[in-house]
Amino acid sequence: MTRKKKVEVEKPELSNEDQIFAFIQCGLCVEELLAAEGPEVSPRDYARLEAGWTPRGLQIRCVRHECNVLNIDFEGCQHPADVTRKVEIAKEKLQ
Ligand SMILES: [Zn+2]
Repeated sequence: MTRKKKVEVEKPELSNEDQIFAFIQCGLCVEELLAAEGPEVSPRDYARLEAGWTPRGLQIRCVRHECNVLNIDFEGCQHPADVTRKVEIAKEKLQ
């Protein structure tokens, strides 16, 4: 049996800052990117993910492949969440 090595990650306070330490990608999209020829495209630019609430929790799906990427069951628990954003940055992106 192979055990995955647990990654120790600093856990900052919940906020609207970018705290992503590992991105979630569609495996099929990553395979396509790795096999693609031509100009290099980042996984971020190639991704077509959608996320939404489900009766059990949260699901991320790939729009391009119409498939599940991640489906989390909160098992009835409620978790803290930050749904705020920095207004100044959001307005800059619109211009
Ligand atoms: Zn995909």
